[in-house]
Amino acid sequence: MKWIRVICFGLSVLFCLQLSGVSYATHDFAVQASKFISEQEQSNKLKIMFLQVGQGDATLLVLPNQKTVLIDGGPHEAGEVIMNKLIEKGIKRLDLVVSTHPDMDHIGGLIPIIQQVPVAMVLDSGKPYGTLTYHMYVRSVKKRRIPFIPAEEGKFLQMDPDVSIQVLNTGKRKLQNNESSIVLKIRYKKADFLLMADADVRTEKKIIQTYPVHADVLKIGHHGSYTSTGRLLLENVYPQFAVISYEKGNPYGHPHRSVMKRIRKFGIQVYTTADGDVEMETDGNSLQIQGGLPLPLLR
Ligand SMILES: [Zn+2]
Repeated sequence: MKWIRVICFGLSVLFCLQLSGVSYATHDFAVQASKFISEQEQSNKLKIMFLQVGQGDATLLVLPNQKTVLIDGGPHEAGEVIMNKLIEKGIKRLDLVVSTHPDMDHIGGLIPIIQQVPVAMVLDSGKPYGTLTYHMYVRSVKKRRIPFIPAEEGKFLQMDPDVSIQVLNTGKRKLQNNESSIVLKIRYKKADFLLMADADVRTEKKIIQTYPVHADVLKIGHHGSYTSTGRLLLENVYPQFAVISYEKGNPYGHPHRSVMKRIRKFGIQVYTTADGDVEMETDGNSLQIQGGLPLPLLR
């Protein structure tokens, strides 16, 4: 009989391991995150964090009502990095995940996040792509039965009554991936943020013609590539601050010299994720960057 018990034990261990392929980490995540969540309180601040994820993009928002939004997840390997940051910050669920467009440097890291972190819904550009990464991303959303919502241009995302989040651009089947980028305008009282994802100059022109684009902080399009951030955009957005997400020594030469030159010409103060996260916080009237003194919003 002893050998039967040994086999039964072995089988149950195997069964547990099988089940825990994904959920092992999920459990870990829940336990660690719960230590911090009780410290969170309602605040009158909007936090926006541009995360260091290598060559890619990931932006985390914590709204005044404590709802959380993750916009892109960087490349595959960034998923783990972001999850550790969520735990550090006491974030145990994401109320919204935005996948701006289907390029690997934006959705790669979202796959493990969607598999392991409780996510309330996924907002997608609506642009499909024939890669394994895209397939795995869609599959992980379906597997966890997370509502998968296509973004609609001009629509506002109702996440916090005090914060307006508007979709200024989204994807269409025949567009290129970058042109399909979900562009978001976030407004909290007097503070405006414009997040360009990888939108190109053509998309910039279209947005300028349709929407008021002024923002205090501009998240520069396409990691500072020369295909984005035209003079016209800078003239219309007229930001005080800019953030560029890229990895030092990347093979694409991001950010491009011509873009940096243009940004400097406009007297914009630039922050990059090349050396670490860029964290901003606003009460809607002033802006604190990297925990510094509150700066007045000038324009
Ligand atoms: Zn990109």
